[in-house]
Amino acid sequence: MKIIVLPGDGIGPETMAATVEVLQSVNKRFDLNLELEHDIAGHESLKKHGSTVTEALLHKVKTADGLMLGPMSTYDFKDESKGEINPSKFFRKSLDLYANIRPARTYSGLTNKVGPFDLIVVRENTEGFYADRNVESGSSEMLITPDVVISLRRITRLCCERIARTSFELAQTRRKKVTIVHKANVLKIADGMFIDICKSVGQEYPDVQIDDYIVDAMMAHVVRAPDKFDVIVTTNMFGDILSDLTSELSGSLGLAGSLNAGTQYAMGQAAHGSAPDIAGQDIANPMSLILSAAMLLGWCGQRSKSKRLLEASKAIEQAVERVVKDGQVTRDIGGNLGTQATGLALAKYLQTH
Ligand code: ATP
Repeated sequence: MKIIVLPGDGIGPETMAATVEVLQSVNKRFDLNLELEHDIAGHESLKKHGSTVTEALLHKVKTADGLMLGPMSTYDFKDESKGEINPSKFFRKSLDLYANIRPARTYSGLTNKVGPFDLIVVRENTEGFYADRNVESGSSEMLITPDVVISLRRITRLCCERIARTSFELAQTRRKKVTIVHKANVLKIADGMFIDICKSVGQEYPDVQIDDYIVDAMMAHVVRAPDKFDVIVTTNMFGDILSDLTSELSGSLGLAGSLNAGTQYAMGQAAHGSAPDIAGQDIANPMSLILSAAMLLGWCGQRSKSKRLLEASKAIEQAVERVVKDGQVTRDIGGNLGTQATGLALAKYLQTH
């Protein structure tokens, strides 16, 4: 099994090094026959190839079994004609990774302000309010005059249907509840359609309970009682914002894994960004990327019906639970371990348990 590893920018290289340490550890313990092939994307690729990502890299990814994408300096990449392509968008769009699955949960041993919870935000990933992926060529954000901008939001039946299905299938493996988050009081047609489609897909899953919240009210509900929620399905930008909130509520942005999945391909990617303010200091929490790697192994395991991959995925999650409980963590969640030492602690636990 081959995974392409792209360390990325900012805290990417250090968090990816810790993730590779953990992947090598489960590779040995579960005899996964895992091949990790390193390549470059982001600033390093822009310098070397004149573009943050290349078609050759895409081809390589398509022939592999999975991709681990490190955080990217998305904010720096503004002009596609100069090779400044947002790598995250590039892979999500080119590989049709329509479902961004972002779990957030609390851990024993970590204090948090809102009490225990365990939920998953399922965010549509290929349209919505994202100007860089809504149109075949160019951008769906337009400068009409120097003082007037129009940004278009795209919502389609197909994308609503498939993200709804992902959510209900996930809910069936959990506490059997799906919450639809929208702004149908203002975006009456688009979000009206989103709700209707989610509810209609939901009829195929009669054992799953459904409710819905307007996105602004949802922010209050999720802060007040996050334990009320199981699977939350929403459109692209609402999901982006809501999932940062839920991961921070769980303790830290550095704790939230994230998987971008389609029907043929999947990409593990931390929920946070490149965090330039803490890059290169060995203080970033690598757990978000490590949990994303666990999700990627789980996705590959389900697809190939490999018990060993599924066990490896579970073992990483359990190792994270254990080291968090033991306080072997980075300073964002109250510990004093460095990024590298956290990866080593997890790898050691996986070798000995
Ligand atoms: P980008 O522009 O790439 O999105 P950003 O700094 O604007 O980067 P994030 O990277 O998501 O956005 O970071 C937001 C805040 O959370 C920063 O203050 C950062 O220090 C902190 N943070 C993000 N990821 C981690 C992590 N893995 N460990 C510790 N702190 C983190």
